[in-house]
Amino acid sequence: MTQAVASSVVVRVPGKINLQLSVGPKESDGYHGVVTVFQSISLYDDVTVTKEEIGAGLSLDINGDHIHGVPTDESNLAWRAAVLMCQKYELPADLRIEIKKSIPVAGGMAGGSADAAATILAIDALFSLGQTREELHGVAAQLGSDVPFMLSGGTAVGRGRGDQVTSALSRGTYHWVLALSTVGLSTPAVYTECDRLREGMKAVTPQVSDHLLQALLAADPVALGKSLINDLQPAACSLRPALRLILDVGGEYGALGSIVSGSGPTVAFLVSDEDQALDLAVALTSSGVVGSVMRVSGPVPGARVTDVH
Ligand code: ATP
Repeated sequence: MTQAVASSVVVRVPGKINLQLSVGPKESDGYHGVVTVFQSISLYDDVTVTKEEIGAGLSLDINGDHIHGVPTDESNLAWRAAVLMCQKYELPADLRIEIKKSIPVAGGMAGGSADAAATILAIDALFSLGQTREELHGVAAQLGSDVPFMLSGGTAVGRGRGDQVTSALSRGTYHWVLALSTVGLSTPAVYTECDRLREGMKAVTPQVSDHLLQALLAADPVALGKSLINDLQPAACSLRPALRLILDVGGEYGALGSIVSGSGPTVAFLVSDEDQALDLAVALTSSGVVGSVMRVSGPVPGARVTDVH
């Protein structure tokens, strides 16, 4: 029996929040070393990659509610991922990429990196390349520091630029309320502001938080709430002072922990269960300081093929 050849592959990929984001001093190449603990959450983009006729070239189409600011040309991270995969494995670059976006754009949830990871996995499946996870991680790391984690998902510690990923033991499910902003924050601008705020301060080499890892191991959301760390939070709040108001509302309504996600401006509130998530979501919505609110949980698995035809 001959095996049917796939012409289209769909990959579902989650966004992430950083439970810890500790930022080292700026290095000579302008980048910062980080130690981060990622958790992927139940908010997904769906990326479909379809073979086109010879000579068609690459094309990209995006749909969804919040797609303002997402490029549809070769600067899109998914497009760049397709180019890299086609070059590396000598594949015909006649492909259509469709992204159904739910991960907020420029929200500190690595939506672009997620789409790149999904495209890598989709092309691997579409051409039956059968590459190992390690091999695909190598391709992912060339596209951006968050891309390797988006392939594996779950809970992981990222070192270096965040691209040296090792999975972390985590028990239980954590419930989050996300306060989304309609206007994103630029990651480079937030790092620049972080450097400015730290001027004259002694540089510290970041370490992963034992308290945080213990909390995850013990499935203890109260301890996790107290262990959330984001060194970029002061910079994000400095550029977007309204974030402080949003963080305060979470505290008033009993969130176990509140943190700006990555470079912001999404704010993530850890709550004890789905009921508290609903209460806090209502309180945030009626406070008038939040654009929109979502309830999610994590960890969830990383990018995975959901349909082949
Ligand atoms: P970071 O990974 O730096 O934390 P982020 O999560 O804050 O980023 P993204 O949604 O990844 O933000 O988008 C950052 C910028 O990347 C966007 O403003 C957009 O110009 C560009 N971009 C390129 N490709 C994509 C993509 N597939 N989805 C979203 N943004 C993209």
